[in-house]
Amino acid sequence: MLKVESIEAYRKDFPILSLKINDYPLIYFDNAATSQKPFCVIEALSNFFLSANANVHRGLHELSSRATELLEASRATIARFINARSQDEIVFTRGTTESINLVAASLGSLLKPGDGILLTEMEHHSNLIPWQQLAKQRGLRLFFLPIDGREGNLQWTSLEEFLIKNRIVIFSFTHVSNTLGVINPVESFCAIARKLGVLTLVDAAQSAGHRPLDVQKLGCDFLAFSGHKMCGPTGIGVLYGRKELLEKMPPFQYGGNMVLDTDFFESRWKEPPHKFEAGTLPIAEAICLKTAIDYLCQIGLEKIALHDEQIACYAYNQISSLPCIIPLGPTKKRAGIVTFSVKGLHPHDFITYCDRYGVALRGGHHCNKPLLSKLGIDSAIRASFYFYNTKSEVDRFIEIIDNCLRFFK
Ligand code: PLP
Repeated sequence: MLKVESIEAYRKDFPILSLKINDYPLIYFDNAATSQKPFCVIEALSNFFLSANANVHRGLHELSSRATELLEASRATIARFINARSQDEIVFTRGTTESINLVAASLGSLLKPGDGILLTEMEHHSNLIPWQQLAKQRGLRLFFLPIDGREGNLQWTSLEEFLIKNRIVIFSFTHVSNTLGVINPVESFCAIARKLGVLTLVDAAQSAGHRPLDVQKLGCDFLAFSGHKMCGPTGIGVLYGRKELLEKMPPFQYGGNMVLDTDFFESRWKEPPHKFEAGTLPIAEAICLKTAIDYLCQIGLEKIALHDEQIACYAYNQISSLPCIIPLGPTKKRAGIVTFSVKGLHPHDFITYCDRYGVALRGGHHCNKPLLSKLGIDSAIRASFYFYNTKSEVDRFIEIIDNCLRFFK
């Protein structure tokens, strides 16, 4: 885990972490839903509006040039952050959900009836429903890589045969499960898929900002993530796509900013990424995603990944040793997510109890309804961590769980 002194120093960067909730210090364990924002990001947002606010790529005046330069500098930083070959491979979107919808709608329009799409049983609704709809519209076949029970590891020993047999053309899967905390073997999946010409999309909503990402090393064709889960603003996300693919794909939405030329009847599109950025972007948010990335890189993504894993394993072991707890997800290597249910207690009662003592958790189906149904539960409690969470917060949480179990006995 990160040293206590380092965490204490990082915590000072997050004004919200010193809040009291119901007179108790806030313990923020809902990071998989959205992370908190450091002061530098909050300040960068207001600085943009104070000194550079204008629309981009259109105006010839000084403010518009400033905003455009800042936006393109952010795109370049994002490209370096994930080691894309060029910043033209970085499309700004509103978030992971929109990035996946973009690929499903645009690339999907090039698919033929009978083509197969492979997902996994642990996909967030954002990486399920866009494909479900596409499959219905275009007569495609959907397949799911199964999990192996409550630990949630994917069963993929005969992946290559499966891809061939079912004429899979796209394999879209999550890097890290938002419910199970499982970390999937992205490099192996992409290597197998690439050998067979199957395109891959990695849902990196839970891994971006939590572990190093290198799209060339991972070998994926597309990668999607959201700024708000990695210390950045809401309303901004990223789609990385290999340039050759983005060039072949039709636009996702139509309007201003994405046309090269148009008359009353015909239009021609700009080159990617602009072809996919119709209308006015969330400019301030896109610019301040750079501030968040610079901040995270200063801490170090390797360090963050290790801290996430160690604090989550510590929490998992403590929580699982309590009576009546049914833990989900792997027993060893895991991301910073611990999900469980309590026998005889509804997650909403549990979470409301914890909230009274300042602990922010999430309960419900976590946009993973089919996964939870497969596991035989309809609702679960999730604690999710980031580099600013401490072991003593976990210890305090365990004390609160203990009291809660006694209260509802
Ligand atoms: N994919 C996963 C694995 C997620 O955890 C989430 C959000 O929780 C999403 C996709 C959707 O992200 P957003 O709501 O930011 O588009």
